[in-house]
Amino acid sequence: MSYDPNNIFAKILRSELPCAKVYEDNQTLAFMDIMPQKQGHTLVIPKEPAETLLDLSPEAAANLINKVQTIAAAVKTAMQADGITIFQLNGAAAGQTVPHIHFHIIPGSILEAKTHASTMADPEELNKVAKLIAQAL
Ligand code: 5GP
Repeated sequence: MSYDPNNIFAKILRSELPCAKVYEDNQTLAFMDIMPQKQGHTLVIPKEPAETLLDLSPEAAANLINKVQTIAAAVKTAMQADGITIFQLNGAAAGQTVPHIHFHIIPGSILEAKTHASTMADPEELNKVAKLIAQAL
C-alpha cells in the first residue's frame, strides 16, 4: 500500500490546514467539504492512514461505517433533508482526487447537486453549517 502523508486530508488531520469540523474522536474526523456539491456536504475520514477503502484495516473500516451512519443521520436532521446520498471513490481511475479514504455525505439527491469539487464555499458558511450538523449529533 502506498500512502502520501502530505495529502490534504493528512495535513488537516495534523492540524496543518484548517477545516470546518463537525465531529472528532480518536479514530475519526468529520468536516465540511470545501467545495460542497450541496449545502451540508460532509466528509468522514479515518485517522488510520489509508488511500482507499481497500487499504483500510477491517477494524478501521467497521468503525468508519458506524461513524458515517451516525453523521449521515445528523446531516439529514440538520439540513432537513428527506433523503441522503453517501458515496466513496477508490483510486484516481474511479475519480478519487484526495488520496486519503473518505466518505461523502450529501443531503438529498446527487442528481440535483453541483459538479464534484467545482465551487469553493464561503468558509464562514461552512463553519455555520458544521455547527448545525454538530448540534444534531
Ligand atoms: P474525492 O474526489 O477524492 O472523492 O473527493 C475529495 C473531496 O475533497 C472533494 O469533494 C473536494 O471538494 C474536497 N476537498 C479538496 N480539498 C479540500 C480541502 O482542502 N478541504 C476540504 N474540507 N475539502 C477538500
